[in-house]
Amino acid sequence: MAIKIEKKITGYNVVKPEDKAAPAAAPETKARAAEPRQAEVIQMHESLERPEQLIGSTFKIKSPLFEHALYVTINDIVLNAGTKYEQRRPFEIFINSKNMDHFQWIVALTRILSAVFRKGGDVTFIVEELKAVFDPRGGYFKAGGVYMPSIVAEIGAVIEQHMKNIGLIHDPEMSDSQRALIAEKRAAYEQAAGKKDEPVAEAAKGDGNANGFPPGATLCAKCNTQALVLMDGCQTCLNCGYSKCG
Ligand SMILES: [Zn+2]
Repeated sequence: MAIKIEKKITGYNVVKPEDKAAPAAAPETKARAAEPRQAEVIQMHESLERPEQLIGSTFKIKSPLFEHALYVTINDIVLNAGTKYEQRRPFEIFINSKNMDHFQWIVALTRILSAVFRKGGDVTFIVEELKAVFDPRGGYFKAGGVYMPSIVAEIGAVIEQHMKNIGLIHDPEMSDSQRALIAEKRAAYEQAAGKKDEPVAEAAKGDGNANGFPPGATLCAKCNTQALVLMDGCQTCLNCGYSKCG
Protein backbone atom coordinates (compact mmCIF):
# COMPACT_ATOMS: atom_id res chain seq x y z
CA MET A 1 0.00 0.00 0.00
CA ALA A 2 1.42 3.32 -1.09
CA ILE A 3 1.37 6.23 1.36
CA LYS A 4 1.67 9.74 0.08
CA ILE A 5 4.01 11.74 2.27
CA GLU A 6 2.77 15.29 2.54
CA LYS A 7 5.11 16.57 5.29
CA LYS A 8 8.87 16.79 5.37
CA ILE A 9 10.61 13.70 6.56
CA THR A 10 12.35 14.71 9.78
CA GLY A 11 13.35 11.26 10.99
CA TYR A 12 12.80 7.60 10.37
CA ASN A 13 12.92 4.17 11.99
CA VAL A 14 13.34 0.78 10.38
CA VAL A 15 10.35 -1.47 11.09
CA LYS A 16 11.58 -4.52 12.95
CA PRO A 17 9.66 -7.83 13.16
CA GLU A 18 8.89 -7.30 16.86
CA ASP A 19 7.29 -3.94 16.06
CA LYS A 20 4.84 -5.72 13.80
CA ALA A 21 4.03 -8.26 16.51
CA ALA A 22 3.33 -5.57 19.08
CA PRO A 23 0.07 -4.18 17.63
CA ALA A 24 -1.26 -7.72 17.38
CA ALA A 25 -0.50 -8.37 21.01
CA ALA A 26 -2.10 -5.16 22.19
CA PRO A 27 -5.76 -6.17 21.74
CA GLU A 28 -5.09 -9.30 23.75
CA THR A 29 -3.89 -7.25 26.71
CA LYS A 30 -7.02 -5.19 26.45
CA ALA A 31 -9.15 -8.32 26.41
CA ARG A 32 -7.40 -9.60 29.50
CA ALA A 33 -8.10 -6.37 31.33
CA ALA A 34 -11.76 -6.68 30.40
CA GLU A 35 -12.00 -10.14 31.96
CA PRO A 36 -13.71 -10.24 35.33
CA ARG A 37 -11.08 -9.75 38.02
CA GLN A 38 -10.36 -12.91 39.92
CA ALA A 39 -10.94 -12.89 43.64
CA GLU A 40 -7.75 -12.07 45.51
CA VAL A 41 -5.87 -14.97 47.04
CA ILE A 42 -5.85 -14.36 50.76
CA GLN A 43 -2.57 -14.99 52.49
CA MET A 44 -2.01 -15.20 56.20
CA HIS A 45 -1.33 -11.80 57.73
CA GLU A 46 -1.50 -10.17 61.11
CA SER A 47 -4.64 -8.15 60.63
CA LEU A 48 -6.69 -11.07 59.35
CA GLU A 49 -9.82 -11.03 61.46
CA ARG A 50 -10.58 -14.09 63.51
CA PRO A 51 -13.75 -15.80 62.31
CA GLU A 52 -16.37 -16.57 64.94
CA GLN A 53 -15.67 -20.26 64.65
CA LEU A 54 -12.44 -22.12 64.06
CA ILE A 55 -11.73 -25.82 63.68
CA GLY A 56 -8.91 -27.45 65.55
CA SER A 57 -7.44 -30.40 67.40
CA THR A 58 -6.52 -31.04 71.00
CA PHE A 59 -3.55 -33.22 71.88
CA LYS A 60 -2.83 -34.71 75.28
CA ILE A 61 0.75 -34.70 76.56
CA LYS A 62 1.67 -36.87 79.49
CA SER A 63 5.18 -36.36 80.73
CA PRO A 64 7.00 -37.78 83.74
CA LEU A 65 8.34 -34.24 84.22
CA PHE A 66 4.82 -32.93 84.82
CA GLU A 67 2.40 -34.02 87.46
CA HIS A 68 -0.70 -33.53 85.33
CA ALA A 69 -1.36 -33.95 81.64
CA LEU A 70 -1.07 -30.98 79.31
CA TYR A 71 -3.79 -30.39 76.75
CA VAL A 72 -2.59 -28.59 73.66
CA THR A 73 -5.29 -27.13 71.41
CA ILE A 74 -4.38 -25.78 67.99
CA ASN A 75 -7.11 -24.02 66.03
CA ASP A 76 -6.87 -23.51 62.30
CA ILE A 77 -8.19 -20.99 59.85
CA VAL A 78 -9.20 -22.06 56.35
CA LEU A 79 -8.11 -19.49 53.77
CA ASN A 80 -9.65 -19.25 50.29
CA ALA A 81 -12.15 -22.00 51.07
CA GLY A 82 -13.58 -23.72 48.03
CA THR A 83 -10.92 -22.43 45.64
CA LYS A 84 -7.78 -24.09 44.35
CA TYR A 85 -5.87 -21.87 46.80
CA GLU A 86 -7.64 -23.38 49.79
CA GLN A 87 -5.23 -23.68 52.66
CA ARG A 88 -5.61 -24.65 56.27
CA ARG A 89 -3.23 -22.87 58.60
CA PRO A 90 -2.79 -22.85 62.36
CA PHE A 91 -4.22 -19.66 63.82
CA GLU A 92 -3.93 -19.98 67.59
CA ILE A 93 -2.69 -22.34 70.29
CA PHE A 94 -3.84 -22.90 73.85
CA ILE A 95 -2.28 -25.09 76.50
CA ASN A 96 -4.27 -26.18 79.51
CA SER A 97 -3.35 -28.15 82.57
CA LYS A 98 -4.35 -28.69 86.18
CA ASN A 99 -0.73 -28.01 86.95
CA MET A 100 -0.37 -24.29 87.56
CA ASP A 101 3.36 -24.33 88.42
CA HIS A 102 4.43 -23.11 85.01
CA PHE A 103 1.35 -21.09 84.21
CA GLN A 104 3.01 -17.78 83.32
CA TRP A 105 5.58 -19.37 81.00
CA ILE A 106 2.97 -21.46 79.28
CA VAL A 107 0.76 -18.43 78.71
CA ALA A 108 3.75 -16.49 77.36
CA LEU A 109 4.69 -19.36 75.06
CA THR A 110 1.18 -19.79 73.67
CA ARG A 111 0.78 -16.07 73.05
CA ILE A 112 4.05 -15.86 71.18
CA LEU A 113 3.29 -19.01 69.19
CA SER A 114 -0.15 -17.70 68.25
CA ALA A 115 1.42 -14.41 67.16
CA VAL A 116 3.90 -16.30 64.97
CA PHE A 117 1.06 -18.32 63.41
CA ARG A 118 -0.85 -15.14 62.54
CA LYS A 119 2.18 -13.34 61.20
CA GLY A 120 2.03 -15.49 58.08
CA GLY A 121 4.78 -16.87 55.90
CA ASP A 122 6.46 -20.14 56.67
CA VAL A 123 5.70 -20.95 60.30
CA THR A 124 7.01 -24.52 60.26
CA PHE A 125 10.40 -23.37 61.59
CA ILE A 126 9.02 -23.12 65.14
CA VAL A 127 8.75 -26.93 65.23
CA GLU A 128 12.53 -27.30 64.98
CA GLU A 129 13.11 -24.44 67.42
CA LEU A 130 10.92 -26.03 70.07
CA LYS A 131 12.15 -29.58 69.47
CA ALA A 132 15.71 -28.41 70.09
CA VAL A 133 14.94 -27.24 73.63
CA PHE A 134 16.35 -29.59 76.24
CA ASP A 135 15.64 -29.76 79.92
CA PRO A 136 18.86 -29.68 81.98
CA ARG A 137 17.18 -32.07 84.43
CA GLY A 138 16.97 -34.63 81.63
CA GLY A 139 14.39 -35.72 79.11
CA TYR A 140 12.22 -38.80 78.91
CA PHE A 141 11.12 -41.53 76.53
CA LYS A 142 7.71 -41.60 74.95
CA ALA A 143 5.90 -44.83 74.27
CA GLY A 144 7.45 -46.02 71.03
CA GLY A 145 10.99 -45.27 72.16
CA VAL A 146 11.05 -41.67 70.96
CA TYR A 147 13.20 -39.46 73.15
CA MET A 148 11.84 -36.10 74.26
CA PRO A 149 14.58 -33.80 75.55
CA SER A 150 12.01 -31.56 77.31
CA ILE A 151 8.33 -30.80 77.67
CA VAL A 152 8.80 -27.82 75.31
CA ALA A 153 10.23 -30.24 72.75
CA GLU A 154 7.13 -32.36 73.09
CA ILE A 155 4.94 -29.32 72.49
CA GLY A 156 7.04 -28.85 69.33
CA ALA A 157 6.42 -32.47 68.37
CA VAL A 158 2.67 -31.97 68.86
CA ILE A 159 2.70 -28.87 66.64
CA GLU A 160 4.67 -30.86 64.05
CA GLN A 161 2.09 -33.65 64.15
CA HIS A 162 -0.69 -31.11 63.74
CA MET A 163 1.05 -29.45 60.81
CA LYS A 164 1.46 -32.87 59.19
CA ASN A 165 -2.23 -33.58 59.74
CA ILE A 166 -3.28 -30.38 57.98
CA GLY A 167 -0.75 -30.82 55.17
CA LEU A 168 1.59 -27.98 56.08
CA ILE A 169 4.52 -30.33 56.69
CA HIS A 170 5.12 -33.33 54.48
CA ASP A 171 7.03 -36.36 55.66
CA PRO A 172 9.89 -37.10 53.31
CA GLU A 173 8.67 -40.18 51.52
CA MET A 174 10.88 -43.20 52.13
CA SER A 175 11.53 -45.01 48.87
CA ASP A 176 10.64 -48.70 48.50
CA SER A 177 14.28 -49.60 48.02
CA GLN A 178 15.18 -47.78 51.25
CA ARG A 179 12.44 -49.63 53.09
CA ALA A 180 13.64 -52.93 51.64
CA LEU A 181 17.21 -52.15 52.69
CA ILE A 182 16.16 -51.47 56.28
CA ALA A 183 14.12 -54.70 56.38
CA GLU A 184 17.12 -56.59 55.00
CA LYS A 185 19.46 -55.10 57.62
CA ARG A 186 17.01 -55.95 60.33
CA ALA A 187 16.68 -59.56 59.20
CA ALA A 188 20.47 -59.85 59.07
CA TYR A 189 20.78 -58.37 62.55
CA GLU A 190 18.22 -60.72 64.04
CA GLN A 191 19.86 -63.69 62.36
CA ALA A 192 23.30 -62.69 63.63
CA ALA A 193 21.91 -62.23 67.13
CA GLY A 194 20.43 -65.71 66.90
CA LYS A 195 23.76 -67.33 66.02
CA LYS A 196 25.70 -65.65 68.79
CA ASP A 197 23.53 -66.27 71.77
CA GLU A 198 20.31 -68.18 72.30
CA PRO A 199 18.70 -65.88 74.91
CA VAL A 200 19.35 -62.84 72.72
CA ALA A 201 17.77 -64.69 69.83
CA GLU A 202 14.70 -65.33 71.89
CA ALA A 203 14.46 -61.68 72.76
CA ALA A 204 15.10 -60.62 69.17
CA LYS A 205 12.33 -62.90 67.95
CA GLY A 206 9.93 -61.39 70.45
CA ASP A 207 8.35 -57.99 70.34
CA GLY A 208 11.62 -56.27 71.15
CA ASN A 209 11.36 -52.97 72.97
CA ALA A 210 8.16 -50.97 73.21
CA ASN A 211 8.65 -49.74 69.67
CA GLY A 212 9.13 -53.18 68.19
CA PHE A 213 12.86 -52.68 67.66
CA PRO A 214 15.38 -55.19 68.94
CA PRO A 215 16.10 -55.01 72.66
CA GLY A 216 19.32 -53.17 73.38
CA ALA A 217 18.78 -50.82 70.48
CA THR A 218 20.10 -47.38 71.34
CA LEU A 219 18.92 -43.90 70.52
CA CYS A 220 19.29 -42.72 66.93
CA ALA A 221 20.50 -39.13 66.80
CA LYS A 222 18.67 -38.51 63.55
CA CYS A 223 15.13 -39.67 64.32
CA ASN A 224 15.30 -39.74 68.16
CA THR A 225 14.06 -43.33 68.22
CA GLN A 226 15.55 -46.26 70.12
CA ALA A 227 16.30 -48.24 66.99
CA LEU A 228 20.07 -48.00 66.57
CA VAL A 229 21.88 -51.36 66.44
CA LEU A 230 25.52 -52.23 65.87
CA MET A 231 26.11 -54.31 62.75
CA ASP A 232 29.51 -55.18 61.31
CA GLY A 233 31.05 -52.25 63.17
CA CYS A 234 28.47 -49.82 61.84
CA GLN A 235 25.68 -48.21 63.78
CA THR A 236 22.50 -48.73 61.82
CA CYS A 237 19.08 -47.28 62.59
CA LEU A 238 16.28 -49.75 61.88
CA ASN A 239 13.75 -46.93 61.89
CA CYS A 240 15.07 -44.26 59.52
CA GLY A 241 18.02 -46.05 57.94
CA TYR A 242 20.68 -43.73 59.37
CA SER A 243 24.07 -45.38 59.36
CA LYS A 244 27.46 -44.47 60.78
CA CYS A 245 30.55 -46.64 60.54
CA GLY A 246 33.65 -46.67 62.71
ZN1 LIG B 1 16.94 -43.19 63.04
